[in-house]
Amino acid sequence: MDLIYKSTRNNQETATASEAILKGLAGEGGLFVPSYIPKLDKSLKELSAMSYQEVAYEVMKLFMTDFTEEELKHCINSAYDKKFDTESIAELVKKEDAYYLELFHGATIAFKDMALSILPYLMTTSAKKNHVKNEIVILTATSGDTGKAALAGFADVPGTKIIVFYPKHGVSPIQEKQMVTQRGDNTYVIGIEGNFDDAQTGVKKMFSDAALAQEMNEAGYQFSSANSINIGRLVPQVVYYVYSYAALLARGEISEGEQINVVVPTGNFGNILAASYAKEMGIPIAKLICASNENKVLFDFFTTGCYDRNRDFILTSSPSMDILISSNLERLIYQTAGRDAEKNREFMKELNTDGVYTITEEMKEQMKDFYGNYATEEETAQTIKEVYDKTGYIIDTHTAVAAAVYKKYEKETDDKTKTVIASTASPYKFTRSVMNAIDPSYDSKTDFELIDELEKLSGVKVPQAIEDIRSAAVLHDTVCETADMCKEVKKILKIK
Ligand SMILES: *Cc1c(COP(=O)(O)O)cnc(C)c1O
Repeated sequence: MDLIYKSTRNNQETATASEAILKGLAGEGGLFVPSYIPKLDKSLKELSAMSYQEVAYEVMKLFMTDFTEEELKHCINSAYDKKFDTESIAELVKKEDAYYLELFHGATIAFKDMALSILPYLMTTSAKKNHVKNEIVILTATSGDTGKAALAGFADVPGTKIIVFYPKHGVSPIQEKQMVTQRGDNTYVIGIEGNFDDAQTGVKKMFSDAALAQEMNEAGYQFSSANSINIGRLVPQVVYYVYSYAALLARGEISEGEQINVVVPTGNFGNILAASYAKEMGIPIAKLICASNENKVLFDFFTTGCYDRNRDFILTSSPSMDILISSNLERLIYQTAGRDAEKNREFMKELNTDGVYTITEEMKEQMKDFYGNYATEEETAQTIKEVYDKTGYIIDTHTAVAAAVYKKYEKETDDKTKTVIASTASPYKFTRSVMNAIDPSYDSKTDFELIDELEKLSGVKVPQAIEDIRSAAVLHDTVCETADMCKEVKKILKIK
């Protein structure tokens, strides 16, 4: 049977890959999931001889079943090119007892580039395939990194507009500057007086507003999403887990078939879900280690089987993980509930009304490859300092959460399986937190002074993405209340 996409909330709703990419979200707030997880049809050995782009094709062709080879290769080769500052696209760096998978070599120096540099190509190809006449309005909520990566990807792409909502008081100064200096006539950036969950809920609400969809259509527009709720975001993220295994094999670090663990600093659960898809495709991954910051809703969930978002939202030094409603977990819930949309809908209804649901023992059993833990702010800072002191390598705050959790995992289990830590952002994106962790006396310096200090300390050249914003003018300064998000969208689109 050909792979198609199904909604997590309605067994009857299906879509082709290109339709699912265009829609972003399924009806009734559901997410599109592949009807099954395909098996890789190349051996690990064959994959180990391939470039990133070639691995991307081998993975993506199995999910993007209505794309031709030519279309898909065009998307892949246009995305993974000189925009990345390393030919290998993702770097694997061994430090101490772990391999850091550096996913921040793209244009906006966070792992979101891995998927968002290809999503615009997937989207425009999908629009062409489906004879879409409307202009596509990419509506995006960001905890800091998706926003810039999506803006960079969609800026000046014909037939699209992109609107980004970010928590005005919940991103790093560099993250904010990167977004508000974005050029391109089709780009819009709005700060909201709320947190990421508010932004994401507001965006999802607009997606499921049928009257709004009607008005949009009449004005010649339709929404899509650049968040990891879009399968066009998720599938490209599977690639780097396959690639990193292949790279370890190619370097002789592991033998063919040897199992590895992966540690993923997690917020919306997209990245780690992609790792679990890679495992299901046939990559020998033993444990999927889910690392949270002090917003440890996922740690509690994996420990107890109860998902409870009724708690304070904590602003941390790893803002891209400051999330209490991890959207992509719904895909795992649906899967472990036997791909039963009815059951999943019940859980999501409870989450919506009471903010809490508890899964069955049976479902929990199916999640036993996941291990959850979290790092406090202090542990995160300590880990940055420790890794720097021991190796000279400087990691960002999100990666440090993962490294700290990995240390806890090792201590708890004594598991010696070789481990890949997803390194999700360049330390340059969170310079102040990173430098303060190494030496608190840095705090008196300005952001850009700190950037120069980081360069001296790390020996890693200041990335172009940072040079670009040093003197760039602020082009976006709109701020709105959460309740007014829809009003702002209508204003931009000149809908009454
Ligand atoms: C988005 C992000 C995360 C969280 O990834 P999810 O897919 O949302 O779990 C972690 N680290 C960084 C730097 C990010 O930008």
